[in-house]
Amino acid sequence: MEKNVLNFTLKQLETKITKLNEKKFRAQQIFDWIYKKNIFDFEYMSNIPKSLIDKLNIELDITLPKIIKINTSKIDKSIKFLLETKDKNLIESLAILENKRVTLCISCMIGCPLKCKFCATGTELKFKRNLDASEIIGQYITINNFLKEKNIFGNINNVVFMGMGEPFLNLNNIEKSIEIFTHKKALDLSKKKLVISTSGVDKGLSDFINKFKIKLAVSIHFPTNEQRSQFMPINKKVPLEKLITELKKIDLKKREYITIEYLMIEKINDTLFHAEKLKSLLKGLKVKVNLIPYNPTKMFFAKPSSEKRINKFANYLLSKSIFVTVRRSKSKDVTGACGQFALKNNGVSLLK
Ligand code: SAH
Ligand code: SF4
Repeated sequence: MEKNVLNFTLKQLETKITKLNEKKFRAQQIFDWIYKKNIFDFEYMSNIPKSLIDKLNIELDITLPKIIKINTSKIDKSIKFLLETKDKNLIESLAILENKRVTLCISCMIGCPLKCKFCATGTELKFKRNLDASEIIGQYITINNFLKEKNIFGNINNVVFMGMGEPFLNLNNIEKSIEIFTHKKALDLSKKKLVISTSGVDKGLSDFINKFKIKLAVSIHFPTNEQRSQFMPINKKVPLEKLITELKKIDLKKREYITIEYLMIEKINDTLFHAEKLKSLLKGLKVKVNLIPYNPTKMFFAKPSSEKRINKFANYLLSKSIFVTVRRSKSKDVTGACGQFALKNNGVSLLK
């Protein structure tokens, strides 16, 4: 049975505490210590009776991932973190510091089984396992505490599931971590501050977004099945039509939209032919297209599109009334940009 309290939703902890023959409200008190007072040791929870603390020490524990290396970008002040799990696996996360706001890009797996050809996580690492909820929210807690301790800005403002792994292949743990991220008595983040990015696993995608109401980003990258299947093996299972049908089932409010992530790879997917195909594909969907210049990785020999080609592509979409933004890649010098998470952190070691 699970021991780490950080893997429990409030309801689950209440059930556990009741099974220990204790009153349900003790679970809330424990949540309060952890998520509001930043205390991760039962011994310091001063309103919990000693008899219960003894039981807790036997039945449960509180374990956070540990920072073992940090690497600060010289270009843009982003910080890449290498964290270690209890079983000595490594996780990567990136804090992006911009306009007094902090966005944390977190991982949900060690490696990724989907093996997209352009992605360092998929090509340079072996897929090991899913991260559990404690390791997912643990990235947030550990890094938030680090930033506060070092007086680097305030709290983390946004959390994006854009690090290592495919969230929709780890749904149970993602659901649990969203519950903990957003619950008033836990981390209390607004749902609008959470973004989940997927390469398009279709089952349950619309149900999930309709239920949790967090923002969705979808990695389309190639507007034809032929090309998408070549670079993203998942497309053989879930071709574009199937994915788009699933996206059409998402209920969007007035100002809401789905973000379409589109890699810009020189002369591979950045021609006007591709822009037209993309426009047709997105017909009938409320979207914002985010053009992402390809960040070079070791195993995929290609170049990011030139500024000129990106502008031409963007202008075509704009002329068809599609909202477009261009992502300026973060921290290329610490290989912390998207798709470059491959556990290579040459930064400062925090190990004694
Ligand atoms: N597995 C999810 C989320 C993690 S990847 C997904 O694929 O959406 C986060 C984003 O980084 C995705 O849009 C992904 O396609 C993109 N990405 C992967 N490799 C990249 C690279 N080399 N350059 C730029 N973006 C990349
Ligand atoms: Fe996995 Fe996303 Fe990388 Fe593809 S792009 S291998 S789905 S992490």
